[in-house]
Amino acid sequence: PLPANIYPNRLNSAGVDLAHRPTMTTLRERLAELARDFPEVKPESIQHGLMRKVRGPQDAASLVGTIHDATLADVEAMIPRALAAQPAWDALGGVERAALLDKAADLCEENSDRIISLCQREAGKTPVDAVLELREAVDFLRYYACEARLLFSAPQPLPGPTGEENLLRLHGRGVFATIAPWNFPLAIFIGMASAAMAAGNSVIAKPAEQTPMIAALAVELCHQAGIPADVLQLAPGDGAIGAALTADPRISGVAFTGSVATAQAINRAMAAREGPIGKLIAETGGQNAMIVDSSALPEQVTRDVMSSAFQSAGQRCSALRVLYVQEDVADTMLAMIRGAFEALVIGDPADPATDVGPVIDAEAKASLDAHVAEMAARGYTVWQRDLPPACAKGTYVAPTIIEVGSIADVGEEHFGPVLHIARFPAGGLEQVITDINATGYGLTLGVHSRIGAVRRLVEAKARVGNLYVNRNQIGAVVGSQPFGGEGLSGTGPKAGGPHYVTAFATERVTCVDT
Ligand code: GLU
Repeated sequence: PLPANIYPNRLNSAGVDLAHRPTMTTLRERLAELARDFPEVKPESIQHGLMRKVRGPQDAASLVGTIHDATLADVEAMIPRALAAQPAWDALGGVERAALLDKAADLCEENSDRIISLCQREAGKTPVDAVLELREAVDFLRYYACEARLLFSAPQPLPGPTGEENLLRLHGRGVFATIAPWNFPLAIFIGMASAAMAAGNSVIAKPAEQTPMIAALAVELCHQAGIPADVLQLAPGDGAIGAALTADPRISGVAFTGSVATAQAINRAMAAREGPIGKLIAETGGQNAMIVDSSALPEQVTRDVMSSAFQSAGQRCSALRVLYVQEDVADTMLAMIRGAFEALVIGDPADPATDVGPVIDAEAKASLDAHVAEMAARGYTVWQRDLPPACAKGTYVAPTIIEVGSIADVGEEHFGPVLHIARFPAGGLEQVITDINATGYGLTLGVHSRIGAVRRLVEAKARVGNLYVNRNQIGAVVGSQPFGGEGLSGTGPKAGGPHYVTAFATERVTCVDT
């Protein structure tokens, strides 16, 4: 077993204290100033580029800035630069690389106002979510810096049964392409890239099409920290950029976070390449449930259901999609949940009072609205909040609760503020777990129960990566709750956990006979 704490000096980021009035006053002034700034960003890695205006989801007319997207010719030029830069970066060793990642973490904290501003304007994040995003990004950088020091500074001696000396060393695999999602445009973007860099790889980082400006700021801060420009290159653009990278055999590995369908397409593209077999690390979606039995505390359940399903407008892979409530307490629980649901504040993410902001874009909105309409047409009971009139400016989805028979009625993952609720009979727990496992996903699962045997049964039978007991099921903390699933939810290893960085490395053994 691993020792209890293999990173004794590592602390998670404290972020920004939004409850501290003077901090909030200064932050608000800074955010107002930054909202009048519409930067035009041409990343260092882009020679040609296609100019594109980036707009925020809370207001279709709002401008965030202008990005120069990569062309396929840019990608073609980036790969040799990344290949040329990688050996020296690998040879630098874990201690030196860690120092640069730590410096990048410090710079993220120093630039918290710019980060919060872009998270709000480009990704529609509330202040709470924007600060959580900042903290997670800083935590990833510092955690993977610890890993670089731990795993890449000295070779590991292995037994030599015939008197020989055996040394195991870890090295970067080469060039990694990282393909990031828009829902954690900073944290997951920098998390994947920094893990790859910690292991001695150079990186071509493709941000989500919706959120290139935050990614550009992250790359700018990494370069400012001293990470060479060719070790971390930004490749903003659409799916064609990702497709060009993943199909290229000079790319040794791909780290991807996003939909199952895209992960499968990347897997096929990599399998079709000539030459060495590439490494794929993919974190995909979930059909996450929470099971509430009759021993659960209703107030606690209500609080945790609200945050699990509706925080970040439900746009987290970890978010609760299907709540299972034991029949005998269902009416009481549902009345309380409905009360809290009616009190959710929907609106402008810049307003600190907002609980639920917009969804990322018109396509996401259309798909969520279509799902709700279809469920209503199929005869399920639907409770839906009215959207305030101001929400018409942006891509808002009205928070919704749908009563279903079981998780199988829900179909695909619906990535937004839509919660499904099903009832199960006393004694029906095993069937519920079977039904949840049958979705094929295995990301998060919540359990609210005071009965030890219930928790143990769920633990033994549920095939999920992250099980949360008597709490909400979002917001995994780097180093404490390594995050990632199994089955349709991803390949593993878990981000922010002790096995992640090694997946980006190759192993070499030297045996010296004496
Ligand atoms: N790690 C995040 C959480 O625990 C979710 C990450 C994601 O949405 O990809 O809520």
